[in-house]
Amino acid sequence: MTATPTVVVVGGGFGGLNAARALRRAPVNVVLLDRNNYHLFQPLLYQVATAGLEPEEIARPVRAILRRQKNFDFRLVDVTGVDFAQRQVATSAGSLAYDFLILSQGSETNFFGLDSMRQHGLGLKDIPDAIRIRNRVLASFEHAMLEPDPERRRAMLTFIVVGGGPTGVEMAGALSELIRLVLVKDYPRLNIKDVRILLLEGTDKILAAMPERLREAAVKTLWRKWIDVRFNAVVADFDGELVRLKSGEVIPAHTVIWAAGVKARPLVSQGRFRVTPTLQHPEHPEVYVIGDAAHFEDGGRPLPMVAPVAIQMGKHAARNIRHALRGETLQPFHYRDQGTLATIGRNAAVADVYGVKATGFLAWVMWLGIHIVQLIGFRNKLFVLVNWAWDYFFYERAARLITRD
Ligand SMILES: Cc1cc2nc3c(=O)[nH]c(=O)nc-3n(C[C@H](O)[C@H](O)[C@H](O)COP(=O)(O)OP(=O)(O)OC[C@H]3O[C@@H](n4cnc5c(N)ncnc54)[C@H](O)[C@@H]3O)c2cc1C
Repeated sequence: MTATPTVVVVGGGFGGLNAARALRRAPVNVVLLDRNNYHLFQPLLYQVATAGLEPEEIARPVRAILRRQKNFDFRLVDVTGVDFAQRQVATSAGSLAYDFLILSQGSETNFFGLDSMRQHGLGLKDIPDAIRIRNRVLASFEHAMLEPDPERRRAMLTFIVVGGGPTGVEMAGALSELIRLVLVKDYPRLNIKDVRILLLEGTDKILAAMPERLREAAVKTLWRKWIDVRFNAVVADFDGELVRLKSGEVIPAHTVIWAAGVKARPLVSQGRFRVTPTLQHPEHPEVYVIGDAAHFEDGGRPLPMVAPVAIQMGKHAARNIRHALRGETLQPFHYRDQGTLATIGRNAAVADVYGVKATGFLAWVMWLGIHIVQLIGFRNKLFVLVNWAWDYFFYERAARLITRD
């Protein structure tokens, strides 16, 4: 080991950023590698996709976040592989040696082998994805205004969200409000009856991690927002104009937002990497794998791919590196589940947080508070709050620009 050990952290998301921060007083040099120069608050990406927020309001440069941390350095690189035997990380700017490595490269959209969906569907995982959805939704209305054929116009104004998890539910709710509360004012000649939003869920329930009462409340709220929720609706194909379901049904629609799942980024393994109870690589104890990239079982089931898991794992990996430096025994990881939340537009959410189960306005206020607290940076908190207040009182969405890709 070198005089001052180097800890290389791959990924400045929830896991990597928290790990780097938790090492601020450790006698190590921390080098964080990311292909983006920002930390992204993914839980609010759908609001960028539905013109509610601008990207810079939910992201912050990593260098700005950790600028006061003396033992910290950042490199804007693409990580292409790891040589565990030589303890080297391969990047787009050459290789980098490490004494400890924390892998937190997160996940990517999982199209479950549906190539037609990869080609024509819209995933939601990063800022460019969100902007692509925003452009498509807004452009659909412009194109529909120019379309003389009523069938084609209806297909242009049919928006399908696939996946009834929190992302799909939130996306469908926000899309409905963008259209029914805001865009109707921009398109006074539009027949709102031509607009359809469908939420397709492959199983018989949405928000599967929530108690039944909250799941039912969520479905009712979606219906009230004119969202057609379909259960056991499995997508088989999408050619850009028609969605085919496994049941044989064909739905004419030009916009499909794919929120059906994510899979770990294949940096060191296909799928999530199975770690030891202390979050280490079983054969290379100097390597830790955390967040969405890690497979860690709790009560016989893998932990979900959510931000609190990544944050807690990041802090824990840093703690174990400090133990290792002092020659102490490493501690096993225990996840503290804080519950789940999903919002379905204004005054409507479902929450199961710290054992408190709530629906409607109360759950919505809980959702607002928790997200504002978690956003990084005072400027982001302030701008998001101002935007939300503006939208709430004036039924507006500030970011309604169609930009070129
Ligand atoms: C649309 C959406 C909504 C979500 N909503 C919620 C929610 O409401 N609540 C919740 O708890 N969770 C939510 N999640 C999940 C949550 O965001 C993830 O579980 C969490 O971000 C995982 O943290 P991570 O550190 O493992 O990965 P990430 O936060 O994804 O960070 C990975 C980082 O690694 C970088 N990276 C990846 N590959 C490379 C490479 N090869 N080279 C260099 N850099 C690389 C990426 O640029 C990124 O910065 C949502 C996710 C999405 C996509």
